Amino acid sequence: MQTEKKYDYIIAGAGCAGYSLLYHLLKDPVLSQKRILVVDANFEKGNDRTWCFWEDGLGAFESIVCKKWDKIEVIKEAMHRSLPTAPFEYKMIQGIDFYQHISEFAKGFDNIEWVAAKILEMDAQSPKGARVSWEGGAAVAEYVFSSINGERIQSALWQHFKGIVVEFETPVFDQSIAKLMDFNVPQMDATAFMYLLPMSDKKALVEYTLFSPSILKVAQYDEVLSAYMEEHYKGLNYTIVHTEIGAIPMTTKKMDIPTGAVISIGTIGGAVKASTGYAFQFIQQQTQQLVGQLKLNQSLNPAVHHTRHQLYDAVLLHILEHKKMRGDEIFARIFKKNKAATIFKFLSNTSTLFEDIQIMRSLPTPIFLPVAIQVLFRR
Ligand SMILES: Cc1cc2nc3c(=O)[nH]c(=O)nc-3n(C[C@H](O)[C@H](O)[C@H](O)COP(=O)(O)OP(=O)(O)OC[C@H]3O[C@@H](n4cnc5c(N)ncnc54)[C@H](O)[C@@H]3O)c2cc1C
Repeated sequence: MQTEKKYDYIIAGAGCAGYSLLYHLLKDPVLSQKRILVVDANFEKGNDRTWCFWEDGLGAFESIVCKKWDKIEVIKEAMHRSLPTAPFEYKMIQGIDFYQHISEFAKGFDNIEWVAAKILEMDAQSPKGARVSWEGGAAVAEYVFSSINGERIQSALWQHFKGIVVEFETPVFDQSIAKLMDFNVPQMDATAFMYLLPMSDKKALVEYTLFSPSILKVAQYDEVLSAYMEEHYKGLNYTIVHTEIGAIPMTTKKMDIPTGAVISIGTIGGAVKASTGYAFQFIQQQTQQLVGQLKLNQSLNPAVHHTRHQLYDAVLLHILEHKKMRGDEIFARIFKKNKAATIFKFLSNTSTLFEDIQIMRSLPTPIFLPVAIQVLFRR
């Protein structure tokens, strides 16, 4: 019979949430000496995604922020709304830098072990604690923190996208401004926009993004991306130096997740903001919250989305899903009538009730109020 090593914690899945939890555990003077096992099917992910988020001041990962902007722009038809983001900055981190930064940091600790294997089973009720098994091995721990099984998530709406990083020979971009949403692209009976983040005056991430029930074929994203490049940068030579593709669930429904000593984190742990697909900062909040609870020996609760803001998310998703109002109209109105800082606070779940009312006043009450009542009574 194989021996099962015992750890304090097992981190199942070393993506954004797994690495974030590891980082915050190791930063904590009380928990940094715990015996931790990290298991992932693939530690060679490369630069599989780019994370952007807003932050007021310097953050924990400032040293790996590769670009920041203090202005954002939203475009719909003739409206070109450019907004200063102060006191926030919109920041970008490359996935590869994040994975490397934390694995380098973890090298300073001899209480961390790594296993590269596909997890086959997790048992939250094992008599020895939570148990994780993979082909040829297994281990037990007081707690397992899992971010695997994301593919099991069901969602009526998805934020899905393909992005290309383009590099021109001559300067073409205004690198001082992040184009958050350019709605002047094919809407495909959905909410669709181009997301354009200039990393320099010659290089940018250009991402065709949609909120809709079904994912497109790769060729469909490509067609819109090349038409956009042709329309905006006609006759100029560029090279595609990187691509990223993804789909993020947009749902406020509780995930079908294990309970007991297996704690779900990241996407499967409900960290994604349902109405926007942003998760990076919520994952930081969630993993820091868990570290705080572990330290105080409290019961573990990974929930990060507060009830009031979750209700707003559910209302917006209902409106988009049931096509009560066009998504481009909704976002254009919000950005036209509010400061970026108020919108960022609202989307971070940190706005005051007064600020919430300001945002809501940008939207038509006859559409939003009946849906809010319906959603409230359904919950
Ligand atoms: C391309 C892309 C871009 C994004 N950009 C942003 C952004 O700009 N801003 C933002 O806030 N959010 C963004 N998100 C959303 C969110 O931040 C990310 O999806 C984030 O990576 C979620 O973290 P996670 O740990 O839950 O999942 P992941 O990072 O996907 O990690 C899951 C890990 O589990 C491992 N795994 C899976 N199954 C097994 C198994 N059976 N056994 C062992 N290991 C397994 C995987 O190898 C992976 O390492 C983006 C998402 C994508 C896909």
